Amino acid sequence: MSITIDKFLTTQLDELKAKGLYNTIDILQGANGPIIRVGSKDLINLSSNNYLGLATDERLKKATIEATNKYGVGAGAVRTINGTMDIHDKLEKDIAKFKGTEAAIVFQSGFNCNMGAISAVMTKSDAILSDELNHASIIEGCRLSGAKIVKVKHQDMPDLRLKAKQTVESGLYEKVMYITDGVFSMDGDVAKIPEIVKIAQEFNLITYIDDAHGSGVMGKGAGTVKHFGMADKIDMQMGTLSKAIGVVGGYVAGSQKLIDWLKVRAKPFLFSTAITPGVAAACIEAFRIMSSEPQLMERLWENGRYLKDGLKNLGFDIGNSQTPITPVIIGEEHKTQLFSKRLKEEGVYAKSIVFPTVALGTGRVRNMPSASHSKQMLDQVLSIYSKVGRELKII
Ligand SMILES: *Cc1c(COP(=O)(O)O)cnc(C)c1O
Repeated sequence: MSITIDKFLTTQLDELKAKGLYNTIDILQGANGPIIRVGSKDLINLSSNNYLGLATDERLKKATIEATNKYGVGAGAVRTINGTMDIHDKLEKDIAKFKGTEAAIVFQSGFNCNMGAISAVMTKSDAILSDELNHASIIEGCRLSGAKIVKVKHQDMPDLRLKAKQTVESGLYEKVMYITDGVFSMDGDVAKIPEIVKIAQEFNLITYIDDAHGSGVMGKGAGTVKHFGMADKIDMQMGTLSKAIGVVGGYVAGSQKLIDWLKVRAKPFLFSTAITPGVAAACIEAFRIMSSEPQLMERLWENGRYLKDGLKNLGFDIGNSQTPITPVIIGEEHKTQLFSKRLKEEGVYAKSIVFPTVALGTGRVRNMPSASHSKQMLDQVLSIYSKVGRELKII
C-alpha cells in the first residue's frame, strides 16, 4: 500500500519540528534595507545580499516605474517567442561590456540560470569536477545535465589537479568541466582563479565560475574573474541580478558562440517567460551606477573592514573571509541559534547558519554588511555583539 500525501507530509514535518530543524519565516514590513521592520520592531539588518544598497535606490525605482509605464508589467512571452524587448537586449549588452566578455544571456533567476546553462553545455557523455561546497543550484544543474559528477575538496588545488588528471586520462568522457563558486557565501573565501586557469589549461577543462556573491563586490563590481584579470580565460561566468545588483535574475557572460548556444538550448530561456520590463530597466540602471560610482563598492569594503576589525577586537572568531561577508563562528549548533536569537532581541538581525548547511560544530552567525550601513549602525552592532557575547560566555 502506498502512503497518502497527508501521511507523508505529517511524518516529515513532525520529524523536522522534533529535531528543531523546521524553519519559520520572518516577514518584513517594508523594504530590505539596512534597517528592517520585523513584527513591530526595527532591526539593524545584517542578513541580506543587497550589498550595495541598490534594492532601495531611488534611481532604480524610477527606472522600474518608467519602464513599466512604457512596456507594461510583464514581458508577455518567453524570450524566444516575442518576449525579448529592446531593454532585455540592452541589459545583455551592458552586462557583457561590464564583465569584459563578448556576450551575455539573462535568465529569470540565478538558480534557474545554473540549472539551464550547465545542462545546456554538459551531457551524460561528460564529467563535471565540482567543489564540494558549491551552491545548491550548481548541484542541481550538474545533476540535470546527466554528467558524471566528481566532487573536489573545497578550494584544494592539488585535489583538483589530481581529479582532473584521473578524469581526463580515464578516456571515459568527451568534455570535462570544473565548476566553483567565485565567492563562497558561508565563509567569504574566494576561488583561486589563477591556479584554476592553470590546471584547466593543462587538462583542457571547461571553466565555470558562479559569481553570485562576487558580482558587484569583487573586481570593482565586475566580479572575481575580473578581480584576477582573467575575463578571457574563464569560459562561463555566471552571476545573479538578485544580490549586489539588488533586483532579480541571473546571467551568463562569455563568448558569442557560447551565448548563441545557450539562447537555443538553455531550457529556462526557451520555456519560461522573460524577466519583467521593470526588472530589466532597474538592472540596466544598476550596471550604469556600478560603472560610474566605484565609491559604492569602496564603502561596502570599508564597512566590511570596520565590522571585522571591531568583532575581532572584541575577541570573536571571524574565520578567514576575504570579502565583506563576516561569519562569527560560535561552534555548537544550539548555542549558535541562541546567539542569533539574542542578537535579534537586542536589535540586530543576523541569521545563524548551522549543520547541514555548514559542517557540524562550525555553527556561525553570518553578517552581511552593505554600502548602505552607517558607522553609527555598525557601532551599535558591535556594542550588542559585545553584550550578547559576554552573556553567552563566548568572549
Ligand atoms: C544566491 C545564489 C544563487 C541563486 O541566485 P538567485 O538569483 O537568488 O536565484 C546561485 N549561486 C550562488 C552561489 C548563490 O549564492
